[in-house]
Amino acid sequence: MPDSLSPTHPLALAPVFAPASTKDGFVEQFLHNLNFDQGVALSSSSATDQYLAVAHTVRDYLMARWLEDLRRQRETQSKGVCYLSAEYLLGRQLDNNLLASDLTEIAREALAECGISLDDIRAEEVEPGLGNGGLGRLAACFIDSLATLGVPSIGYGIRYEYGIFRQTFVDGQQVEQPDAWLTVGSPWEFAHPENAQTISFGGHTETYDDEGVTRSRWVPGWNVQAVPYNYMVPGYQNGRVNTLRLWSAVATDAFDLRIFNSGDYEEAVRAQTFAETISKVLYPEDSTPQGKELRLQQQYFFVAASIHDFLDNMLSEGYDLSNLPNRVIFQLNDTHPVIAVPEFMRVLVDEKHMEWDAAWAITQQCFAYTCHTLLPEALEVWPVELLGRLLPRHLEIIYRINEEFLTAVRAQYGDDEMLIRNMSIIAEHPVRSVRMAYLATVAGAKVNGVAELHSQLLREKVLPDFDAFFPGKFTNVTNGVTPRRFLRLSNPELSRLITAAIGDGWVTDLERLRELEPFAEDADFRRAFAEVKAANKRVLSTVLRERDGFAVSDGHMLDVMVKRLHEYKRQLLKVLHIVSTYEGVVSGRVAVSDVVPRTVIFGAKAAPGYAMAKRIIHLINAVGEVVNNDARLEGRLQVLFPPNYNVTLAERVIPAADLSEQISLAGKEASGTGNMKFALNGALTIGTDDGANVEIRQLVGDDNFFLFGMSEPEVDALETAGYRPSEFYQADPQLRAAIDLIASGAFSHGDRSVFEPVVSNLLYEDRFMVLADFASYVAEQGRVDAAYADQDAWTRSAILNVARTGFFSSDRSIGDYIDRIWHTPPAL
Ligand SMILES: *Cc1c(COP(=O)(O)O)cnc(C)c1O
Repeated sequence: MPDSLSPTHPLALAPVFAPASTKDGFVEQFLHNLNFDQGVALSSSSATDQYLAVAHTVRDYLMARWLEDLRRQRETQSKGVCYLSAEYLLGRQLDNNLLASDLTEIAREALAECGISLDDIRAEEVEPGLGNGGLGRLAACFIDSLATLGVPSIGYGIRYEYGIFRQTFVDGQQVEQPDAWLTVGSPWEFAHPENAQTISFGGHTETYDDEGVTRSRWVPGWNVQAVPYNYMVPGYQNGRVNTLRLWSAVATDAFDLRIFNSGDYEEAVRAQTFAETISKVLYPEDSTPQGKELRLQQQYFFVAASIHDFLDNMLSEGYDLSNLPNRVIFQLNDTHPVIAVPEFMRVLVDEKHMEWDAAWAITQQCFAYTCHTLLPEALEVWPVELLGRLLPRHLEIIYRINEEFLTAVRAQYGDDEMLIRNMSIIAEHPVRSVRMAYLATVAGAKVNGVAELHSQLLREKVLPDFDAFFPGKFTNVTNGVTPRRFLRLSNPELSRLITAAIGDGWVTDLERLRELEPFAEDADFRRAFAEVKAANKRVLSTVLRERDGFAVSDGHMLDVMVKRLHEYKRQLLKVLHIVSTYEGVVSGRVAVSDVVPRTVIFGAKAAPGYAMAKRIIHLINAVGEVVNNDARLEGRLQVLFPPNYNVTLAERVIPAADLSEQISLAGKEASGTGNMKFALNGALTIGTDDGANVEIRQLVGDDNFFLFGMSEPEVDALETAGYRPSEFYQADPQLRAAIDLIASGAFSHGDRSVFEPVVSNLLYEDRFMVLADFASYVAEQGRVDAAYADQDAWTRSAILNVARTGFFSSDRSIGDYIDRIWHTPPAL
């Protein structure tokens, strides 16, 4: 900076230059970026060059606002949110950022002038798949809403070099390919190696005398560097741009030149390679923790870097740390970031020399925890042996937290050893381990579930002792999805229709969709709505033809089940329904003319180590292969399974769907967010009373929702009574015929062994009670068929689903977090 330019000079505060928001301004900046960033002329540029130059152009428009927001957050020092999440399933960025900056039409015209189609450019972007499924996508929706609501906030996470694997099918079986999303580089990120944090591991702890005070300190064994990459998170047309900061691991010293010079090249790069594995790959697990040392390293790596980044770079000079609860709340997205709690304590006590009690009081106000599961096996625990080896000081701190907590429990309840054992943060069996959910619950100011039913079960079944001990700590925030990506962008035709009817205020105030209710009674509107759905099906049909070579039949009901493959989500129940319909026709029990034409679309990735899930994928493909090619079905039943379900595919499939399958066993799906996306796009749901389905049904009304299956108390009662799936098999001939057909090898070229593990699991274990809910499911599917026959009535229901599900905006979720947990001030 020249001497004459003071730090408060306008040019020092904002970019010197922002392009004009006109077609000519866009063209000029685009060509500039093509020439000067990509180093090519328009005439010789590739589609990739053009995509990168367009992305840089959008960035240029957003830059001034971003720098302004960064400055404002530092200057005001008002209370803000640090959202800590190991996953962000972002989806493509270009369209979203064009929409947020209101540049879509300008860009389209500008590019057309250069002979380029915006639609072609879009297709060049590889989506950053830095998440597994719902949890990662929720984090992405939340940072969109935080920016749109103007909440001072920053998202922290990991910049995985390889995100969720790319799924392919070979002979119907899942094969995983690495997701090299960074091959051409990401135009949306800004590396800041100068702001790297040193993150330590291993070593030992010691005490020392500090002028008469005995203190502890950690003497680590090894370090890595955490390099931040910043991503813009623009609010929707509000001039706000928040930040997502993802950390990448690099070795402290590139390599040891001495060893290199001695000729041992491999040894010289080993340390570097080792350090960099920390942010190399996303764990492709969903709902089950993978107890791996590297995963704990990832968790500590990103939360330690984030906490230090916040304390070093976001606080004003000489900030009084006792005031931190008025400055920050760290929201823990599931247990993955919970190791942040002892790290925060370590910084306050060991490094800032704060008294333990004072530090603990601050910590208990600066953290809040969101629980995302009900499956006991999904509650993360870390063996003490591992934690102590990797993070010895943190283990000591956890022990002390636990000791003081249990002392308080004893003070209240006496020496009830059973209770003490149940509430201890340390589990003794099968190996001594730290229960991360308990640590988060003890430390957090609030603990929230993600749907009404989930929050209730969390209090009553998962953590009842904690609910009794900490009155008022537990609360609910029902999940939501961003209406920008999952309605405005993904369903432009429906968006136009809605806006024509009620104006465009719904994009940021989704409850206004209520104003559509009267239009459900308007025949012209119903016709237009049905035409939009038909058009979306045609778009999907084109996408699937080009992407996978599939032919989607006209005039079919589009029945969609897209989500991670997990036994609790019960893709098998859907498969049994398909097999049963098929069996009915080929056995002559059902006339083919009575089969309501359906195309069933599946999308699902299985964790590579989850054998049963992978076998179910194989079964779906095998059933599809047979059903789709059996002439006796006359093409009335089609099963399509496009591989590699991701956000980009979700954006195409959901707007085209007629029927949304949300069929988890009641009491197992915490919330679901796919269910919300479908309802908002005018699909009717067939679902159990589980997760947010409960709230969807209450809002849309029983007449506009296909409910089936046991309720959670009924599931509980059946479990208590002793569930024997073979009894259901014996008692129901239709179910028996479907299972027998699979067992006979009809879908495996006569080889009965291929799906035997699936069949015997259903018959003798069936942990998620597929057989118990089968009859109810099939009966309800019959009602779906009957309802679909009256297209006009179906459309009326679909419109009411859209009109009544505005509640599920992630803007509302964030509003609830602010009211119930964060208490951050209104937007500046
Ligand atoms: C919304 C979404 C999910 C979550 O779906 P559920 O049905 O709630 O499990 C998973 N993956 C992608 C790509 C999504 O967009």
